[in-house]
Amino acid sequence: MLDIAIIGAGPAGLTAGLYAARAGLSAVVFDGGFPGGQAATTNWVENYPGFPEGVGGPELGQMMLKQAERFGLLLRGEAALELGLAGEEKRISLKNETLFARAVILCMGASPRKLEISGEAEFLGRGVSYCASCDGALFRGQDVAVVGGGDTACEDALYLARTAKSVTLIHRRGELRAQAALVSRIEGTHSIRIAYDRVVERAEGEGKLTHLLLKGVKTGKEERLEATGLFVAIGSLPQSALVRGQIALRQSGAIETDVELRTSLPRVYAAGDLRGGSPRQILSAAADGALAAMSAVKDLA
Ligand code: NAP
Repeated sequence: MLDIAIIGAGPAGLTAGLYAARAGLSAVVFDGGFPGGQAATTNWVENYPGFPEGVGGPELGQMMLKQAERFGLLLRGEAALELGLAGEEKRISLKNETLFARAVILCMGASPRKLEISGEAEFLGRGVSYCASCDGALFRGQDVAVVGGGDTACEDALYLARTAKSVTLIHRRGELRAQAALVSRIEGTHSIRIAYDRVVERAEGEGKLTHLLLKGVKTGKEERLEATGLFVAIGSLPQSALVRGQIALRQSGAIETDVELRTSLPRVYAAGDLRGGSPRQILSAAADGALAAMSAVKDLA
């Protein structure tokens, strides 16, 4: 019987592990992917404190793991396939084994919502990206497009405009939903053009992305847009499928928590991008992990 099982080895999970292990509890983090989660897919992180020159996302994930392991956290490189969270003993089912824990911290994160158009998967990493701040530097001096009309899309467009030759912001409606301050900055940036009332129908190229086919929502008219980068910023989806039906979720699928990150079930906590209201930053995910572990330590005492 473990004290604490942590599901997901992103910044939230690894920080929860650090705090749990330092409190002297037996803690295991389960993840079938690489340590660092979404942060490890980020090329360069410039807004995590303590790194004045920035730090590579994968490197940050490795350092977080190493730090937690020093205090006794164990990483189990396997995904939890099923969780039984209701009882006293929390059940974690792996492929060939079932383990039990006194408490569980859910840190499965979120994944970017996909456009689900032809070419999107084919050109992933070869033009298509879900993270402007991670990959934008690769498109210096190029024509790029951003899809979406929210804060993320506008921030991405502004970020890319600093280095790209041109940015086309493609939005399916005639009005952006982003904060007014962002919208006016967008409108005041000469290298950003807004293509309202358009959707991307296809991403095309040879080996890598060269252009997009857009369609007018109102007109039905098709047009070709030359773009070597396509940044998709149409929201994200909390990865809560593993606990759906067991725990209170928001309509968005995010996990409902109290201020100390307790969920609707005793000794089950949620931290990071999959909890409702998360600011979706590496720093806030790490802070969540610490807080969730401190709540668990308190409840188990
Ligand atoms: P969001 O606010 O949900 O916006 C998603 C955008 O994508 C919307 O404009 C939506 O169009 C569009 N969209 C959704 N599905 C689409 C599809 N299939 N095809 C084309 N367009 C699609 O997501 P977000 O911008 O990532 O923001 C999420 C939350 O984080 C928000 O609460 C936001 O305020 C917050 N946030 C804040 C900041 C900041 O304060 N600096 C920065 C980033 C994010 P419609 O408008 O037509 O629905």
